[in-house]
Amino acid sequence: MEDVVVIGAGIIGASAALNLAQRGMRVHIVDSAPPGSGCSFGNAGLIAVDHVAPLASPETMAGLPRMLLRRDSPLRLHKRSLPRMAPWVLEFAAQAQRSRFRRNTRALASLVTGAAQAWRRLLDQHIAAELFRDIGSLYVFEQPVAHATERAQLDLLDRHGVRYENLTAGQVRRDYLPSLTPHISHARYFPGMASVTHPQQVVERIFGAALAAGAKFTSAAVDALRALPDGRIGVTLNGATHPAGKVLIAAGSRSNSARGFR
Ligand SMILES: Cc1cc2nc3c(=O)[nH]c(=O)nc-3n(C[C@H](O)[C@H](O)[C@H](O)COP(=O)(O)OP(=O)(O)OC[C@H]3O[C@@H](n4cnc5c(N)ncnc54)[C@H](O)[C@@H]3O)c2cc1C
Repeated sequence: MEDVVVIGAGIIGASAALNLAQRGMRVHIVDSAPPGSGCSFGNAGLIAVDHVAPLASPETMAGLPRMLLRRDSPLRLHKRSLPRMAPWVLEFAAQAQRSRFRRNTRALASLVTGAAQAWRRLLDQHIAAELFRDIGSLYVFEQPVAHATERAQLDLLDRHGVRYENLTAGQVRRDYLPSLTPHISHARYFPGMASVTHPQQVVERIFGAALAAGAKFTSAAVDALRALPDGRIGVTLNGATHPAGKVLIAAGSRSNSARGFR
């Protein structure tokens, strides 16, 4: 019997598998696709310690009408996709209510504020230290931000101990980017932020380290999960059911919807 079946070999599954294997558990990773080829392949690689608040917020909801009308908005709603998106949009709106936003911010902040140190510890185990960049991050703004909005953002960062330095466009040009475009109003530097230069390679290395620590891998899709009479969990793949003591679902965006995963 495997102690833990990990469904999904993205950044979440691979790093959880490594951690569990290093703690002496027998780990079986299952993924139908190559490691790190899902969402973990195409991201920006930022370890964003400043992202203490979720996107689903009362402020996002208040700004929606403006975002939907602007031509250069980051938000687009395609009419044909609306029926399919409706459950997600309704859940987003529910999570944006003030009380849930506060609760979600506490949960998210507890994870992200220690993320850069946790990544450093992980990658320093001779796994992918050279893919880790520890140089902070500079956000530049084209427009001044309304005073009340800016105050609320800074209060949030202060409350969660996120370090930052507010800079004028002139300071950015002098100290960081002499060739900065003239169309910049101000900037904020986050010294605690880090990034990885190649997110997929990072997952591949962590996955390789998990195998070296004793985990095994099966290339297959998990079709269903069900409780077995003896208290274990039946994991169905390739038409056969395998008993597992524990299952860790790290199937990314499919974690909730895949049949039998709830
Ligand atoms: C454009 C973009 C930019 C982003 N930038 C950043 C960033 O800068 N910093 C950051 O922290 N985050 C960023 N993110 C978010 C980040 O990429 C994701 O949160 C992260 O990759 C999710 O990892 P995961 O392991 O949960 O999922 P995935 O990487 O999607 O892995 C899930 C795995 O599960 C497998 N799977 C699914 N169903 C099954 C099944 N039934 N059986 C077996 N296997 C299954 C899939 O094949 C896949 O390999 C960004 C996302 C996007 C889209």
